[in-house]
Amino acid sequence: MTDVRSREPFVMPTYGRYPLSLVRGEGTRVWDDEGREYLDFAGGIATVPLGHSHPAWREAVHAQLDMLTMVSNLYFTQPQADLAARIVETMAMGEAQVFFANSGAEANEASIKLVRKWGLARGRKTIIALEGSFHGRTASTLAATGQPSKRKDFEPLVDWFDFVVPEDLDSLGAKLTEQTAGVLLEPVLGEGGVKPLSAGYLRAVRELTQERGALLIADEVQTGVGRCGAWRASSLSEVQPDVISLAKGLGGGLPIGASVARADLAFEPGDHASTFGGGPVVCAAALAVFDTIERDGLLENATKQGERIQQGVRAALEGSPVLTEVRGRGLLIGIGLVDDIANQVTLELIADGMLATTASPDVVRLTPPLIIDDQDVDTAVDKLAAAITRVSGGRP
Ligand code: PLP
Repeated sequence: MTDVRSREPFVMPTYGRYPLSLVRGEGTRVWDDEGREYLDFAGGIATVPLGHSHPAWREAVHAQLDMLTMVSNLYFTQPQADLAARIVETMAMGEAQVFFANSGAEANEASIKLVRKWGLARGRKTIIALEGSFHGRTASTLAATGQPSKRKDFEPLVDWFDFVVPEDLDSLGAKLTEQTAGVLLEPVLGEGGVKPLSAGYLRAVRELTQERGALLIADEVQTGVGRCGAWRASSLSEVQPDVISLAKGLGGGLPIGASVARADLAFEPGDHASTFGGGPVVCAAALAVFDTIERDGLLENATKQGERIQQGVRAALEGSPVLTEVRGRGLLIGIGLVDDIANQVTLELIADGMLATTASPDVVRLTPPLIIDDQDVDTAVDKLAAAITRVSGGRP
């Protein structure tokens, strides 16, 4: 077999890769090409809510592969029809419709386009997004991303967006005018450092948008489908958006995205399209994700284990000069560190048989499968505390 590293020059270096090649996964564990086992708290960056190779999910995908793989959106298929109904009911979006895409950026692209169309028809040209946010890498989702370093080499981008500082209601109040089509936000800023928005802020944004006739779009690409202990994280703050975007966990590891909008906002024929969007295999996979989360009580497990992780890390690193904060919702958790040592910590974790990611240079991010149990959490907390202590030069 060719060494995968010798093939690296053929791949565009858009990701800084960790020095390992993974070949197999089962449950909360993955194995590399040398047979080493890892406890997977990266979870494909929040894409494997059922863990790896879950029997119910595998069975659903295999059965659909044997039946029908892809026919485009020119025809009805049962898995897509069932999934659309399931998403609308589960996400409690009232009378709503789903557009199927293939990724988080594409789900947001659809959400942005439908709000843009609605807004232009009313003279409302601008969508307000948050500084520090992340909404994707396509041209419009990058324009909506509140991180100038990611945008700078591609500007000018579409001028549809304006930005406000999260939690600052005065600046939102000043910018939200009759020119505003909507406000776009992540209930927890994920790539921006795992920063949950307060329930008070989210509710106030909802009230202000309603008062001033604008829409609220929740980017639940990372937070949705149970990740935060609820089907969508906005519901934890009792906020009902007009549009939400889903992706990451939705397919249980296969690529699918969805824009879910109030029915009166939905696209009309000719507005938008995606050849692969909502194919039978990914929809069958997503239905198995919904079934399994419901059957196995994984929302409750995400809440419980998320709290155990947060408490465990705080207790294990009590008094540590390098720990700033442990925060998050459910199983989207950020461990804030005083210096830009998060990458080093994740490398130390790899050496100790555990995977995690970073959400910014000083934040280690945990997005494990929703199936983790007490033992997985205890092991992870021990490894995290040891890695952080080692990287901080033994300062306990
Ligand atoms: N929106 C949010 C909140 C995300 O976290 C991400 C990815 O990290 C995206 C959008 C983009 O998703 P994708 O990488 O699937 O295009």
